[in-house]
Parts: sequence; structure tokens; C-alpha cells
Amino acid sequence: MNILVLGSGGREHALTWKLVQSPRCTQVFVAPGNAGTATIATNLPLDANNFEGIKKAVLENDIKLVVVGPEDPLVNGIVDFFKADKQLKRIPIIGPDAKGAQLEGSKDFSKEFMLKYGIPTAAAETFTPETLEKGLSYLANQKGPYVLKADGLAAGKGVIITEDLQEAQNTLRDMLEGGKFGKAGSKVLVEQHLKGIELSVFVLSDGKNYLILPEAKDYKRIGEGDTGLNTGGMGAVSPVPFADADFINKVEEQVVKPTLKGLQEEGIHYVGFLFIGLMNDNGQPQVIEYNVRMGDPETEVVMPRIKTDLVRMFMSAHKGTLDKIKLQVNPKYAVTTMVVAGGYPEDYKKGDLMEIPEADKDAIIFHAGTKPTEQGVVTNGGRVIALTAMGRTLASAVQKSQRMAKKIKFKNRYFRKDIGQDLMKYVNKS
Ligand code: AMP
Repeated sequence: MNILVLGSGGREHALTWKLVQSPRCTQVFVAPGNAGTATIATNLPLDANNFEGIKKAVLENDIKLVVVGPEDPLVNGIVDFFKADKQLKRIPIIGPDAKGAQLEGSKDFSKEFMLKYGIPTAAAETFTPETLEKGLSYLANQKGPYVLKADGLAAGKGVIITEDLQEAQNTLRDMLEGGKFGKAGSKVLVEQHLKGIELSVFVLSDGKNYLILPEAKDYKRIGEGDTGLNTGGMGAVSPVPFADADFINKVEEQVVKPTLKGLQEEGIHYVGFLFIGLMNDNGQPQVIEYNVRMGDPETEVVMPRIKTDLVRMFMSAHKGTLDKIKLQVNPKYAVTTMVVAGGYPEDYKKGDLMEIPEADKDAIIFHAGTKPTEQGVVTNGGRVIALTAMGRTLASAVQKSQRMAKKIKFKNRYFRKDIGQDLMKYVNKS
């Protein structure tokens, strides 16, 4: 069958890489894709939010399965658009409808949802411009660190954490009155600060049954030792050594099952990925956030560990038969190191010519912000290449990923040298 993947990052390259391995797959199209997807699939110069353009591409290319990579087309209602269209409504599309996507699109909605269905999460209060004064005195009565979250999508930048009450109050005022984060900040959650170590658990749901995919830990900050500005993600590791079977079991019982039951009770037929951002607080899971798609760069370590045919998984998710699939997972470690453009996540240059060698054995070069040109592949984003490597031990996977990352050459390239280092102590313990 012909398959269309929407998006252009490392996540979409990893999904495409996995899809083309399926005997059920004839050809993959990626809209808009990058230089990496161009080598294994056909790129279409089409924005993932151009629904009419996507419809045309689906019909012209006889697409029989659509996989939505990023969150914005989902929040903007691409699944509802398919369901409402006579020619598209029978075509399987992987992702929730706009109502389901509110789990990511509105932090207020997801907090209410978690409280309603008894899912462990930090206590929070929501404030609007009308209740700003209340919000300021609420903050004054709390102890720091203060956690402020813009309600809407803010490209991962809508969360401010500060120890300083004055700064927290100023930020609340800026968000509610000054238009910081635009419409996304017109409602703000003030949340209790959670302690512990973070990790992400991924689920594929058919609306009723689900598969728990390999978990991952990502590295958000630009600097080594988790310092500096937040980024889209500088690396990831799977499996997460401190997430033992007992912890994952707690996540399944206390989070996954009540979430899917809650979605059903809300009348949401949730077909697609659910990404659960968690804090492990002394063995107790607390949900930080939901995302309604896979993570990037987590996909670049999760997909290489899945042995099961991904097309079969998606078709089962569409048909409601995920209970028939027993997920096969490679027990090896997968580590990805993100190679980024100098200056990222602030100003950086695009269009620099790149040198990309052949991948070593056990390594996969996933492209993110790259573009094919007549002169060769050039940089086309802040995050440029995700360098994934597999290894029997965490240390060997880290070493291979870093060794390959070093071989990716372009002007002012940068990558963190400490991906996975914080996890070594858990491995040595077990
Ligand atoms: P979010 O966009 O909700 O994932 O938040 C971004 C990051 O802020 C998370 O990955 C956490 O590191 C941090 N964070 C969010 N909420 C909390 C909280 N309640 N307590 C501590 N850290 C938090």
C-alpha cells in the first residue's frame, strides 16, 4: 500500500524508516519531508497544515494510510477533516480528532481531565485576565519553585519555572495582560512543583485496546549537565534504566488505563499515539503532560527498538484489533545524539553544506532539519541530524552514537557530549 507521513523532522524520518521495512508497504510519501526521507521515500512539497493540498495528494497517489507526525495538524482538526470528507472518510489516519488532541492543545483541558479520572498529577489552579489579582495572591501564598504554564500550544516554550515570587508574579501578569505567548497564554495554570526524575511513556491506542511502546528519556536543555535554554530535545535514551517493570506497571494501572477509559467516557475515539510525560517521584508516577503524537527525538530511539511491523500496528489501531498484537521489542539500548546548528535554540544559520558519512554498523543517521540541493545536502533547521546507535550496554550505545555524531560535519555544528551519562549509575546498580 502507499502511505503518507506528515511532517519534516527526525521523528518523521524514523517513522518512514520503520514503515518502509514493512512487506505491506509499497511506497511512502512524506509531506514535506527532509533530505533523509528523500532517500527512502518521495517528498511532496506540501505543508502538513494544508488540508486541501493533502486531500489532493492522498487521492492522486492512491494513499491507503496517513500517519500524522506533529501536533498542530491534529489540534487543527485534520482527522475531523478526513472524517467529514466523502472521499477521505474511509482512509485510515493515525492520530486523534481535534477533541482528543485537546489533551495536548489545552493544558487546562488535560488538567481537568486528569483530575476527573483520578490520574496522578500536580495540583493546579487556572487564571484568566479577569482573575489576575486572584492569581497574584494565590502565588504569594505558595512556596517556590513556582510553575506557570500557558494553556495553549507554545512550541514547548510555554512553561516557566522560577524560585523567585516576584518573577513568577511578573510572568503571570505578562502572560495574562501583556500577551506573552499570544493566545496560548490567555489562560495560565499555576501548578505545584513536582520533584523526581522525568521520563516518557508511549502508547498506541485503537480507541479501546492499546500497546505500551518502549519508554524513553530525553535531554531538553542545550547545555551539558542540563543547563541553559530549553530546546526541542538534544538526545534520548531507551530503555530508561530506572523505569523497572514495577514502575511501568504502575504507569499502566494508574495512568494508561484510566486515561483511555476517560477518553471513552468523554466520547473521544482515540486512535493514535499518546505520549505521557511523567515524573518518577520515588517510584510513584505523576503526569506532567500529555502529547497526542510521538516525541522528537524519542521516536528516533523508540522505532529502532520495535521489531513488530509498524504498518500492521497502524492498521490494527484503525480496525480496533490492537489486542491481537504482541509487541516485539529489541532489548538493546538505543541512544540518539542530536547534532544542531550553532546558536540554536536562538538565532542560527540555515543553508550550510554538510558532510554526511556512511553510518557505522548499529548506527542510523536520521535527518531532521536538512534539505537536498544540487550542491548536496544543506542544513535547514536548528536540529539537523539525530544520530542513533544501538548497543548491548548503555555505555556502548552512547559511545557509538557520539562517535558517529562527531563524523557529521558542517559549519558551527554542536552536540551534547553527556547524553545518557546521568543514567549510568542506575545501570551499574542493577
Ligand atoms: P511541559 O511542556 O508541560 O512538558 O513542561 C515542560 C517541562 O517543564 C517538563 O518537561 C518539566 O521538566 C517541567 N515541568 C512541567 N511541569 C512541572 C511541574 N509541575 N513540576 C516540575 N517540573 C515541571
